[in-house]
Amino acid sequence: MSLSQLAKSISESPTLKLNETAALLRDKGEPVIHLGGGEPKSKAPIDAIVSCASLLSTGDVKYTPADGIPALKKAIIRYTEEHYGRQPAAENVIASSGAKQSIMVLLHAILDPKEEVIFPVPYWVSYPEMVKLAGGVPVPVAARSGGFEPTIEEIAENVGIYTKAIIINSPNNPSGAVYSDEFVAGVVELCEKRDLYLIMDDTYNRLIFENRKPTNVYDFSHALSLDSSKLVVINCVSKMYAMTGFRIGWAVGGKQVVRAMTNIQSQETSGPAAPSQWAAVGALNGVQSCVESLRLTLENNRNVMMRRLGGFSGVKVVKPGGTFYCFPDFSAYEKDSQKLCHLLLDKVRVVTVPGREFGMEGHLRMSFCGTIKEITEGVERIKWALDPEAPNELYLGDRKLVRDWR
Ligand code: PMP
Repeated sequence: MSLSQLAKSISESPTLKLNETAALLRDKGEPVIHLGGGEPKSKAPIDAIVSCASLLSTGDVKYTPADGIPALKKAIIRYTEEHYGRQPAAENVIASSGAKQSIMVLLHAILDPKEEVIFPVPYWVSYPEMVKLAGGVPVPVAARSGGFEPTIEEIAENVGIYTKAIIINSPNNPSGAVYSDEFVAGVVELCEKRDLYLIMDDTYNRLIFENRKPTNVYDFSHALSLDSSKLVVINCVSKMYAMTGFRIGWAVGGKQVVRAMTNIQSQETSGPAAPSQWAAVGALNGVQSCVESLRLTLENNRNVMMRRLGGFSGVKVVKPGGTFYCFPDFSAYEKDSQKLCHLLLDKVRVVTVPGREFGMEGHLRMSFCGTIKEITEGVERIKWALDPEAPNELYLGDRKLVRDWR
């Protein structure tokens, strides 16, 4: 079969693949614990369901404007006013089928072939593939300190004549790190000085712990208006409202770039699915206590995960400041994260995601968006699999496992 060079250069989403593997094993009755997931367990807010159902009950489900229905754009404008203190016009806003599509059409709108996009390591798995899909060249930048936040100098060293944009994501998938204000301010300044697009991926913006205030990237910008700026802020209902399956995200940026994104989206997919857009309107305009309740649940889960990992000698973990991921360093046990991930799935049926997919070997991404039982039992099983001091036998339900690999 002849496939394009582009198709051959793009790899499958490892996280979606792991979801599939976990589901297949569960269907076979295997006692899988999924610590590789990327979505909260809670249900979508009732306001989202009511709003979506009221459209469905009319049976009148039709195409929508390519950049989203006016009611959703209005709700996004209100959200931006409340959480960012900025008042975008409708022409500054585009709603897409998930934050993923907003980022994808944005990259298509700004990249010429071979132009480069910089992002810090560790990075969300999709950034390199999305940049390649848009014809660009991904430029991941690792901190020489080995930490999760490079210095501004390290980012600046990688800016060259082909650099078109920088993407930052805070709190960060996979590390859970909240970038310092100094770092975000430095990236904004660098982009403004060098005339680069800054794509601020705020997917987890409100899932932040210890009552810390979510970072508002606009606070660091010297641009006089959204239209004189190359800053584009990405958000979605996927994580904060636990609405991953609805597929609604959005971008707020200058009118010119939003118009270009709209043209591309209009040719690629048309507007997002109408029932999902109405669900997002319901979530954004409805009772907001669900976001705080999710945030508190995740903070408690994070604390449990940290306590459990804390009792695991050899594993180094930095406490995440947000999201529902942590990114411990298991290199004392196994340097090859893919090998380790496969061992844990094969032997103790625990799903994790290899750090290599996020640009950092020796680490595993472990999610704490599941139940406390999943977190505690998952970490216990991993410990049993890796700790040479652990007893030789472990029971999973009524199945006895005997450790024969260490
Ligand atoms: N950005 C980041 C950092 C993410 O983790 C994700 C989802 N895993 C997305 C964007 C995409 O979100 P959506 O599901 O709304 O497309």
